[in-house]
Amino acid sequence: MDLDFDRNHLWHPYSSLIDPPPVYPVERAEGVRIYLEDDRGLIDGMSSWWCALHGYNVPELNAAAQRQLEKMSHVMFGGLTHEPAIELGKRLVDITPEPLQRVFLADSGSVAMEVAIKMALQYWQSRGRSEKNRLLALRNGYHGDTFGTMATCDPVNGMHHLFAGQLTQHFFAPAPKPKFNEPCGEEDIAELRQLIEQNHAQLAAVTLEPIVQGAGGMRFYSPEYLKRVRELCDEYELLLIADEIATGFGRSGKMFACEHAGISPDILALGKALTGGTMTLAATLCTDRVADGICRGEAGVFMHGPTFMGNPLACAVSNASIDLLLNSPWQKRVANIEKQLKTELAPLKESEAVADVRTLGAIGVVEMHEPVDMMQVQEALIDRGVWLRPFGRLVYAMPPYVISEQDLGQLTGAMMEVLGNP
Ligand SMILES: *Cc1c(COP(=O)(O)O)cnc(C)c1O
Repeated sequence: MDLDFDRNHLWHPYSSLIDPPPVYPVERAEGVRIYLEDDRGLIDGMSSWWCALHGYNVPELNAAAQRQLEKMSHVMFGGLTHEPAIELGKRLVDITPEPLQRVFLADSGSVAMEVAIKMALQYWQSRGRSEKNRLLALRNGYHGDTFGTMATCDPVNGMHHLFAGQLTQHFFAPAPKPKFNEPCGEEDIAELRQLIEQNHAQLAAVTLEPIVQGAGGMRFYSPEYLKRVRELCDEYELLLIADEIATGFGRSGKMFACEHAGISPDILALGKALTGGTMTLAATLCTDRVADGICRGEAGVFMHGPTFMGNPLACAVSNASIDLLLNSPWQKRVANIEKQLKTELAPLKESEAVADVRTLGAIGVVEMHEPVDMMQVQEALIDRGVWLRPFGRLVYAMPPYVISEQDLGQLTGAMMEVLGNP
């Protein structure tokens, strides 16, 4: 591969073109392994950023793509519709909490969140409450890289200082303190409650990642906290936007992380694992109330419609991926991964360099005291046949659900060796 061209011309995520970091040339991927050009196989501990639930080169997904490709890979969704989109809509309405009945098919996670935000703003505008145009988000949150979503990301570890003048000033509550298995006391919710009490007249919605805060810190928080937020939203007539782009489709042990708290949001964003990692697709679901509110307004329509909306190829693969997931023992697989991650990463707690080790569902996180040298750690893991992408002080694994006990053992073993002896 022409890596010189890559280095000189291609942006990679969050990368420099003056001092480009090394990138590894991938030839193919199969099962849970990514194969480099030199034929080294790496166990993918990242599921390509939460996406590849079933691993790679999955016959069922390939077949669905091929079947659809022969009919049509794409037609516009304005004025036209098709079976793959209808089938996907049915599945999404079916597997998400009852009140979520209306589906907007978007093209990436960030766009699904833009759509979610726009829905909330347009809902209040339609109801003659256009002053309700701000959001309340959580610190340590991550909702995407576009301008609307950036404004809801953590104001410190997000990109607020770089684009300060261009971002809407939203409100931020502290990151939830009670951990996953801890209760949520009045004091844990006090600051969020106060922000809502003082600003509800300007607030359209609370936006959060339920239970698992992903890219903003890989933190797991108490379902009781989420329950309290839902109650406060009801009390003060705010919409609740749940960003399940990372957590959706079983990653936290429940199909959707909201289920840990037994709550339903008014607006739900899905992405990442929606097509099982085959291609980009996202969705924003909302309740009848939100959809009716929007459509009874001055505009009479929801003001969004991307070119590749409802792409048939992506929808067909998504249907196959959801069927494959539902027909698999995914709960058991995720529970087994959780158990193994918990047991095998536990000894790292004794390492002086390690601040915390935590697991939830098929997610294992090792938080170090100091930021890790990403390149060095990555290379040491590759030497041990493992692909992980650490950031900051965090080294974490969220493997495909189909990973074998042995491969997961190799992955945790590599983490132990590399992180336990810095
Ligand atoms: C990845 C992610 C997004 C953004 O999705 P993209 O497809 O990268 O635009 C938004 N929210 C959460 C929680 C995510 O993990």
